[in-house]
Parts: sequence; structure tokens; C-alpha cells
Amino acid sequence: MDHANRKALEARMREEIAGLREQLGDLGERARTVELDQQAVGRLSRMDSLANQGIAVNALDKAKSRLARLERALSRIEDEDFGLCADCGEAIVPARLLVLPEAVLCVGCAE
Ligand SMILES: [Zn+2]
Repeated sequence: MDHANRKALEARMREEIAGLREQLGDLGERARTVELDQQAVGRLSRMDSLANQGIAVNALDKAKSRLARLERALSRIEDEDFGLCADCGEAIVPARLLVLPEAVLCVGCAE
């Protein structure tokens, strides 16, 4: 990956990480709010709240895992072999690395 591409990808990853951190704050807030609600509401709406909390927890887990994968990729972005396919050695397109930061294979080899 050339210097300009690397810098552009790094910037996009940092943007994505900042967005995820913000999202994590919101989701954490929602999960907590639901907990408080449960003490004051009836059985049916409690079931609703639990379902909503389940969704929030699920989204929270997903966002956390994506954040971790992006941070790992970001920590390796200066490595010589970052963004190179482990199989054919060709460059992996930055768009793929953004969607799948842990990708070690190019689209062709991954298929
Ligand atoms: Zn390849």
C-alpha cells in the first residue's frame, strides 16, 4: 500500500473508531436506562424493556467487536506487510480493509 492510500485509510479508520466510541456511549446509556425503567413498569412493558435491552446489548457487543478489530488493524497499519494479501501478496483494496479490517486475503483469494 502506498503512503497516500495508507494515510487515507488510517484517517477513515480513525473516523470510524470515533463514531463507534460515540455509539458505544449511547448504547451503554440505553442499556442502563432500560434497567432503571424495569423497576417502575408492569409485566408486559417489562418484557418489552427486556427485549429492547437485548437488542441494545447485542448492538453493544457488535460495536465493541468492530471497534477492537479496527483498533487492531490501525495498530498494524504502519507495518510493511499491512494490506497485502497473505496468499498472493497483492494489495488488498482499502475499501475492503475498511469493511473488514482483519482481512488478510484479497477479494480474489478469499473467494
Ligand atoms: Zn490474494
